[in-house]
Amino acid sequence: NPQTTDEITDLADRIRAGERRGLARGITLVESTRADHRAQAHALVDLLARDGKQALRIGLSGTPGVGKSTFIEAFGLHLTAQGLRVAVLAVDPSSTRSGGSILGDKTRMERLSRDPGAFIRPSPSQTQLGGVARRSREAIVLCEAAGFDVVLIETVGVGQSETMVAEMADLFVLLLAPAGGDELQGVKRGIMEIADLILINKADGDLKAAATRTEADYAGALHLLRKRPQDPEGFPKARAVSALSGTGLSEAWDDMQTLTHWRKDHGHWDATRTAQSGHWFQEAVRQGMLDHLRSDAGLRDQMAASARAVEAGETSPDAAAAALLSKLF
Ligand code: GDP
Repeated sequence: NPQTTDEITDLADRIRAGERRGLARGITLVESTRADHRAQAHALVDLLARDGKQALRIGLSGTPGVGKSTFIEAFGLHLTAQGLRVAVLAVDPSSTRSGGSILGDKTRMERLSRDPGAFIRPSPSQTQLGGVARRSREAIVLCEAAGFDVVLIETVGVGQSETMVAEMADLFVLLLAPAGGDELQGVKRGIMEIADLILINKADGDLKAAATRTEADYAGALHLLRKRPQDPEGFPKARAVSALSGTGLSEAWDDMQTLTHWRKDHGHWDATRTAQSGHWFQEAVRQGMLDHLRSDAGLRDQMAASARAVEAGETSPDAAAAALLSKLF
């Protein structure tokens, strides 16, 4: 990895020039947890963020098997065919199990990965959600600086990671499978509330009728939610698509464009990004404090002892935390 500021400046220039190996190297740097790498990563991200280039950041979530990679490949190819450049990042906080990747260990997205207009980066093996979030945010900035028009951030549908991805995306898309019965598939209300677009995948062949029914169910459910100030009429929206046949992909992209333009015109786009920056600043401070507490052996021991005391009911969580924090300040 680069060690000097000159090397960081050079790496930044390579990324700006759209050099794929430079971008890959930059992302490797932001993924590193080594203190010197962290410092270099901050320098790099700061430098590139000042360019002010923006991509459309699309968060995409769905349970395993729903068709995320099939969708991303088809949708990505749809975009690159229009001359758009597409980066795909994966966020998988539980990836130790799968050997560190929801993308890399598969030969899926083969066509998209060969497309010169696309860049696919698998998820690193990191279990800590805070680390995953930071790495993803920084990788997004690098992709934007590299001139990508669209950054797709994929995550498996496991609770916290969806919220996290929504907090770093301009648009959040939830991919669902057609429901067997006629009740909603236990999709949590919270997830419905952060979704801009609910796509019911596999609307083809035998599943087409079920997908159309599911689309209507979700359209109805979304209609009952309070209208959000950042949405034009008709959003959030449910739409049946088929990643396999390509049905509905163009319309889904139109929906995303409609939302994007409307939000830009009405100031919501910038307001959301500003709020997200504020959120991530708070998160970074919180994470930094925790890292600091854990990096000192004495504090780490006291933290463990306090946790045991709290669990044993000897002290309250707040009192124990206050006592611990008083050691810091
Ligand atoms: P992921 O785990 O969410 O990434 O899902 P995959 O993209 O790997 O897809 C899981 C399975 O669903 C595969 O067998 C796909 O071929 C299939 N699949 C994905 N999209 C569609 C679709 O639009 N229609 C149909 N019929 N099958 C699909």
